[in-house]
Amino acid sequence: MATGSAGADARPGPAVVPSATQRAPSPMVKSRAMLNRTAMCVVAGMALAPAAMAGSVLPQGAPIDPLLSAIATEIAGIPTQVYCHTSADWSPPDGDPSHGGYATPPNRIDISPSDCDALETYASADPKPTMCGSWTTVSSTIREKVRYRKTIRVKVRGKLVKRKIWKTKTIVHPVEKTVPGPLAPCWSAGGTQVVPRGSGYSVFAHAIQTVAHESVHVLDFRTGVAPSETHAECAGMSVAPAVAVALGGTLEDGRALVAWYSSDIRPNYANPAYTQPCS
Ligand SMILES: [Zn+2]
Repeated sequence: MATGSAGADARPGPAVVPSATQRAPSPMVKSRAMLNRTAMCVVAGMALAPAAMAGSVLPQGAPIDPLLSAIATEIAGIPTQVYCHTSADWSPPDGDPSHGGYATPPNRIDISPSDCDALETYASADPKPTMCGSWTTVSSTIREKVRYRKTIRVKVRGKLVKRKIWKTKTIVHPVEKTVPGPLAPCWSAGGTQVVPRGSGYSVFAHAIQTVAHESVHVLDFRTGVAPSETHAECAGMSVAPAVAVALGGTLEDGRALVAWYSSDIRPNYANPAYTQPCS
């Protein structure tokens, strides 16, 4: 496997992350303003992609390479070929099979078997495995018939006397009840839905970020920007929600996955090149 200028620095992750993305060397870091402009342009372009339909975008058993290539091409702005590997042919440049992927100039991306499995599962699923059932409260009323005693006067042999009789009336009660609501991202900061650490949720967050990260490397190959892991991570997290959308997810789900990646996966990398602040 040609490695070109792609480096062999690994992105070690927490135990819940099955693989790490091979990162290119980072001799210099792009200016912050340039990073932001790049990320914004890419996000805007991805948002307009026709594939932005929620649902399954990959038939069961179909190869995902063409779809990932189209996504990477959209981000990088140059025709890009993505190759999904099996465990039999996965051989990152530095020989560490735990990597999530790596980019090779000018326009090639290789993705690990575990990340490809997660991407295929995500793309073909409907609903997405990262969406959970939610509950919502609805207000309504119930009508209840009740019996009550009423005193009336009736004539008995010419005299008015009191009698008690039973009558019924309808009472309306306001009630609130909790019912199943629409699907929502399984994790949201400050929300009530919390994904346990070590759950499969991390696998999807990692895999989607891998596609975004490596695509940013190809973008940098094209524009002549020196490879930077910080840039690939930060710009990658900016475009990762759009990657989720291109895989049939919702933008809300993509943002939740990136938020999870940023707070629960990225900080655990030992290599500081992957944990630098983005702003
Ligand atoms: Zn990288």
